[in-house]
Amino acid sequence: MLIVKKYGGSSVATPERVRNVASQIIEDVEKGYQIVVVLSAQGKTTDELVARAYEMNPKPSRRELDMLLSTGEQQSVALMAMTLQAMGYQAVSLNAFQVPMHTNKTYGSARLEAIGTDRLQAELDCGNIVLVTGFQGVNRYEDITTLGRGGSDTTAVALAAALQADRCQIYTDVEGVYTADPRYVKDARKLEEIGYDEMLELASTGAKVLHNRCVEMAKKYNVQIEVLSSMVKAPGTLVKEDSLVERMMVSGVAADKNVARISVIGIPDLPGKAFALFNLLSQQGINVDIILQSIGREDRKDISFTVAEENAEEAYEIVKKHQQALGAEEVTCTKDVAKVSLVGAGMISNPGVATQMFEALYSAQVNIRMISTSEIKISVLVDKDQVEDAVRAVHHQFRLYKKESGR
Ligand code: ADP
Ligand code: ASP
Ligand code: MG
Repeated sequence: MLIVKKYGGSSVATPERVRNVASQIIEDVEKGYQIVVVLSAQGKTTDELVARAYEMNPKPSRRELDMLLSTGEQQSVALMAMTLQAMGYQAVSLNAFQVPMHTNKTYGSARLEAIGTDRLQAELDCGNIVLVTGFQGVNRYEDITTLGRGGSDTTAVALAAALQADRCQIYTDVEGVYTADPRYVKDARKLEEIGYDEMLELASTGAKVLHNRCVEMAKKYNVQIEVLSSMVKAPGTLVKEDSLVERMMVSGVAADKNVARISVIGIPDLPGKAFALFNLLSQQGINVDIILQSIGREDRKDISFTVAEENAEEAYEIVKKHQQALGAEEVTCTKDVAKVSLVGAGMISNPGVATQMFEALYSAQVNIRMISTSEIKISVLVDKDQVEDAVRAVHHQFRLYKKESGR
């Protein structure tokens, strides 16, 4: 039996934790399993490397940024290999070049395209525990790429698919996937199972417990993911094709603080204006999320939209530069907003759900700035300083809390 295990940054943050993970790996080796382990950079290493890059250059080249950020994962795998060897076990660390893990050419958010399995298989056949750098790839120019923040989860699922592993386990600092972030919703409930589609929406709307691309990949290759704690031995959450056990309408609430809103005020109410505006952004590869257009007044309308916070300046500058050509009266940008999303299968066919969500926000005195709905989620934009209150209120409204809390 072959198991792919992934441990996140907090699980390997200190020498004690590295040893604790090594012992867990050894437990499975002793059971006779072949093990491939994907590791993230230790603790806050990646954040620190980002800060160091910006200290040297406020606009670092994406290629060089990837070259730097990928070093965190390389430290982790080498240290883990040494730890396992010190404990008397055979282990080898491999980076993206050595595997190899081929990606497209996009630095900073590369997509995995092909994984070679010969070397991995050979190392396993020699009796090695194989440690692979998460988050890294290599592109057609033989440059190092990274898969985007949180991307080690995707490395693990991709390896599990490529190696046709029997199990794919993602170990983190919480016991599984919860109905909301357990860090600030204290009575959030751990889900036994969750379907790919709902998990994908939760991950895409801010529940960073799994990288959204890893869920996409798991669905595509039908890889079941077990989300578990590296610190507490407890049953985790199974992410799989349509969950039957936990089939309920609302599966969770997610928050995303990495949001900025740009408003283009007083654009002439003419055909082609929305196209002109969003074409400017798509040409620069900037993704737009929620869009709101107001009803026109005196032949003019306002268009507001959200982008990821890191794209805010660039998006604002592009629109500002073309303000005259667009005929807009004013362009504004704010980062004081966050998105709260309610996720669940088949919500759109139940009109009461949106009303209940808005009622919860009203009771918590949270003002809604924008709304967007899809078949599987309802998202609202709120002020950043109210986001935690909003999540708690919505979570409470749908009674997603722990059963043992007695309510
Ligand atoms: P790792 O370093 O192991 O990859 P992350 O920090 O990326 O871990 O993801 C785990 C974190 O995700 C948890 O500490 C938790 O705060 C957060 N989180 C957000 N939403 C959820 C959720 N619905 N269920 C579980 N954890 C969540
Ligand atoms: N180390 C990377 C990050 O912090 C990748 C990961 O942890 O998944 O984003
Ligand atoms: Mg993560």
